[in-house]
Amino acid sequence: MVAVGGGSTIDAVKASGFLAGIRWVTVPTVASTDAPTSALAVVYTEDGAFEEYRFFPRNPDLVLVDSQIVANAPAAFLAAGVGDALATWLEARATAASNSLTMAGGLPTLTGTALARLSWDILWENALPALDAVRDHLVTPAVEKVIEANTLLSGLGFESGGLAAAHAIHNGLTAAPQTHGLAHGQKVNIGSLTQLVLEGAPTGDIRDFIEFTTRVGLPTTLTEIGLTVENTHELELVANAATATGETIHAMPFEVRPADVISALKSIERFSRRVREEAGLPAPKPYVAAH
Ligand SMILES: [Zn+2]
Repeated sequence: MVAVGGGSTIDAVKASGFLAGIRWVTVPTVASTDAPTSALAVVYTEDGAFEEYRFFPRNPDLVLVDSQIVANAPAAFLAAGVGDALATWLEARATAASNSLTMAGGLPTLTGTALARLSWDILWENALPALDAVRDHLVTPAVEKVIEANTLLSGLGFESGGLAAAHAIHNGLTAAPQTHGLAHGQKVNIGSLTQLVLEGAPTGDIRDFIEFTTRVGLPTTLTEIGLTVENTHELELVANAATATGETIHAMPFEVRPADVISALKSIERFSRRVREEAGLPAPKPYVAAH
């Protein structure tokens, strides 16, 4: 089976190929997730809420990317992929610190963790010029590097380096209907930022992350994912789902309770607004989910 398209299409083909006993290859037409490389599919309910990770015994036999096709797609897809791939290092670092199991089922390897770090470094250096090039549908060396980071390094990095709070919070966010319609990488970025807050990361690091990912075009406030600090009911649903038994948030090197997630999520609204204002970046625009 040949999966041609974005993350959901590719995951659907992988799952179908597995059920049918047919091997699969992936041909991503956007670099918006690391789904093309991985050996799992994310399964959602019909309403769009996270249901489960479905694991397969093998990765795709081939991942084939035509960079010009990726450059012809709207830049927002590439930006979402940057959000997904930046999380890879933050989560692999946490998984290594706690010596938790990875998505591939073993302990993190130095190789997986190093690839996650490489993905982060490449993106920090190349994401902004790559996005500018793609806005004009140009393929440059920066675009090629970002495609590799988003698709290959992030995929290998999370499978062999591990997932932690960022993706668990992404999964939790799918419990709030307000966030439906946002790309995976957009919600993951909120997860990454929330993870940094939960870690008590140096304020300078959190500030840099907000500035950089805002420039990439990723959400860094609740406002931009359709929520506010007043949405107590939704934030409780999010926090409960993010800390459910078996969620990757338990790979963090410390215990994370639902109340911690709620406080961290709420705290990013005011802090991000401050950082953006001080950096001369635009104030967040509210996201309204399409129905
Ligand atoms: Zn992801």
